[in-house]
Amino acid sequence: MEKPSFKIEASDAKSMGQSTGLTLTQLLPTIVKSAQPLARVPISKFHVAAVGVGISGRIFVGVNVEFPGLPFHHTIHAEQFLLTNLFQNKETQLQYLAVSAAPCGHCRQFLQEIRGASDIPLLITPESEFTSLSKFLSHPFGPHDLLPKHVPLLLEPHNNDLSFLDTGSNTGSNGYNNNDNTNQSSISKLKVAALEAANESHAPYSESPSGVALLDSRGNVYKGSYMESAAYNPSLGPVQAAIVGFIAGAGDNAAEYGELVEAVLVEKDDAVVKQESTARLLLSSIAPQCGFNTFLCISNNKKSN
Ligand SMILES: [Zn+2]
Repeated sequence: MEKPSFKIEASDAKSMGQSTGLTLTQLLPTIVKSAQPLARVPISKFHVAAVGVGISGRIFVGVNVEFPGLPFHHTIHAEQFLLTNLFQNKETQLQYLAVSAAPCGHCRQFLQEIRGASDIPLLITPESEFTSLSKFLSHPFGPHDLLPKHVPLLLEPHNNDLSFLDTGSNTGSNGYNNNDNTNQSSISKLKVAALEAANESHAPYSESPSGVALLDSRGNVYKGSYMESAAYNPSLGPVQAAIVGFIAGAGDNAAEYGELVEAVLVEKDDAVVKQESTARLLLSSIAPQCGFNTFLCISNNKKSN
């Protein structure tokens, strides 16, 4: 593969297999290798790529993304990037997983948010034999310890039934020119996208779903949904999820954070897990020119109570 990309269509994967004489799973190590340079690792210089095959036959890529100047807990791990990429492309199941290094403890845990995680076939390249995730985490703590069985897990469709609070919901902005009309129309567009992302957010433990929408200078919008882990810390924030959308959306044309011009966070008024401060911190660190606005929402379930 010459041109690394974050998403490979099923038909392209098929023709890659035909031209190389390899099966889909035999192709994965090559894709992992070609994706490693996409990692953004100014601190560790350790390039990790995670490649997954979705139930649709499409192939998705994730890489690690570090943020100099911030504590390590802001980092996006390659497996988290991959799951976010699958999630943003509406893939409801991960059929195969291949990674360039054994998943760290944090990622072994984060992967537990997928239904049937233990059985996912896992390949550590350059090995050629698949093993299962349960071999790497044999006694997992996960959603099954905390949630009823019917609660949707990561990658399964969510609808959190949120709508905007009617008044007084904008809690401030970092941005420039926030009073001009163009900017107001951008913010309105981002509000809709961020609310969608919050409605799709996986936050069954805190019941504090949230979403972010980012706008770049070309007018593209990238959504990110907060994704929780049963074990607290592996949870991925909504800004990180939106950054995954931004990086994956740019493909091999290395997206620069300086292209981000506006951001909107939507979270619940009464959330016990609030994203605003940390979301603002991360964005102001990587994209100080980017505006930042928070809008509050309410769960409609709660409204009718
Ligand atoms: Zn990891």
